[in-house]
Parts: sequence; structure tokens; C-alpha cells
Amino acid sequence: MKLAAGGVALVGVGCGDGGGGGRWGESGLPLVAATTTMVADLARSLGVGMVEVAALMGPEVDPHLFKPGQRDVQLLRGAEVVMYGGLHLEGRMAEMLERMERHGGRVFAVSAGLREGSVIEADGAHDPHIWGDASMWADAAAYAVERLAGYFPARAEEVRGRGEGVVASLRAVHERLKARAEEVPEGRRVLVTSHDAFRYFGRAYGFEVLSVQGIATVSEAALADMARISGVIRSRGIKAVFVESSVSPATIKRISEETGAVLGGELCSDALGAPGEMVDAGGRLVDKGTVGGMLEYNMDTIVRALR
Ligand SMILES: [Zn+2]
Repeated sequence: MKLAAGGVALVGVGCGDGGGGGRWGESGLPLVAATTTMVADLARSLGVGMVEVAALMGPEVDPHLFKPGQRDVQLLRGAEVVMYGGLHLEGRMAEMLERMERHGGRVFAVSAGLREGSVIEADGAHDPHIWGDASMWADAAAYAVERLAGYFPARAEEVRGRGEGVVASLRAVHERLKARAEEVPEGRRVLVTSHDAFRYFGRAYGFEVLSVQGIATVSEAALADMARISGVIRSRGIKAVFVESSVSPATIKRISEETGAVLGGELCSDALGAPGEMVDAGGRLVDKGTVGGMLEYNMDTIVRALR
């Protein structure tokens, strides 16, 4: 209920300033507030040298559970523009963000720019983990370019020029990911993880995804589900299962012990690594703090464990 009150207090953020601004970051540049590390990465890559980006959530923070504190509320209030993921990714902030947007705030969800029919419906809701498919994240980026160009008309050409490079780079990542997935024999392309974050990744790159989220309590259904997943691992000869950086590894470890499938490594699902964290991904050095780099790192981890 405290959240709702916070939401009411935030109505009007970004309203009525005539676009003149006065909302500046420490660098003297206009401040853009981004919710997750993925959205912050997009904002930084599009607005480098033009805006200052402040992220509400850091690496290893679960966006589904994140609750904004006083500092975050101040950040949202002080920002010239607010960018978020949407599709209820920011579960405990979603209502507040949507309300700010409805009331004319300079606030937008990057997922609003996705192609019709591309969003996955699961368990009666939209799946918000769209960055798992680099081509969809490229669509989200193209949309963000137009929104930012609209908010900063004097810099519109600059944003569009930079945006072209960002979109092209994500499309190139998409092609590389498709090629790397081929290294795993088709029958073994099964991704067993902790929570439901890889449906888009699986659809885009040809992996069947089995997740064990929700199996925290030992109910009959949970045991049946775990038994089903273990059965698939045995019958298909799946060599490895994966833990996630922002989710408890307990159930995955149990499945690993039960089936003999090894722990294939830690995947980034709902948060990136630290910006500038360079890692090897199949002979390419990639920045785990960017969406493209994180996807290549994840794919490399998966391919090495399953092939
Ligand atoms: Zn998630």
C-alpha cells in the first residue's frame, strides 16, 4: 500500500515543465533514469555524451522484486526522462511507472516498440524477458531512439545516427548467436534453468526451455514437475543445467545431484554484469555489462556445456 502512495506522489513527474528542463545530472547533462541494468545499457549506448544515465537497479538485482526506496523516487522525480522495461518486468513499480506515463510524464517502456505478435504470452501474462532475443531488443532500441529524438529535438539527428549503429550491432549479435547455437546437436538443445527468463532466448535460438521456478516448497505438483524435468534430462542425455546470477541455485543443484547433469555455469538472466566487465565468449572479448555482450557470454556458457 505504501507503493500506491508513492505512485500518487509521483504523478506529474516530468509534466508541465514545457520541455525546458532544469533536470540535470552531476555532469551538467540532462538526466535519464533507467530501471534495470538492461534498460540503462540501452540508454547509455544511445545517449553517450548527450545525457547522463542513472540506473535504479545494479547488477544481480531481481527486477521482479525490486521496490523503489526514497533515493529511487527522488531519482525518478529529478530525471528529464524515465525509461523502463515494461510488460510488468518491474513488478512492484509497474503501476507507478504506468501512471506517470498516463499523466503525460516523459516516461516510456522500451517494450512498447515491439512488433505485433512478438510478445510471448505465458501463464496469462506477457513475458517481459524480451532482451533474451537480440533482434527483439534491437526493435526496442529502435523505438527508444525515436522517443529520445522526440524528447531532445535539437539532438534528434545525433540520436538517430547513434541509434543506427546500436541497432545494427544488436542485429549482428543476433546472427552470431544463431550460428553458435548450431554447435549444439539439435536433440540436446535443452536449457534447464531456475526461472522463466529464457523463453525469448529459446524461441530465437532453438532451445527448448525447462525452468523450475516456483518449486520452492515440496508440494506434490512441485515434485512431479521436478521429476518430469529430471526425466527429460535423462532420456535426452542433457549434459548440464544452469544457475542464474539473480536467482537462488537450490533447486537446480538438487536436479543436478539427482540426474548427474553437471552445473554448466551461471547465466545472466534479469541483470547484466558490471559495465566494463570484459569476458571471453568463444574467442571474442565481450562486455558482460551490455545486453549484447551478456547474450554472447550466456550463449558461450550454454554451448560449451551442452555440445
Ligand atoms: Zn525474470
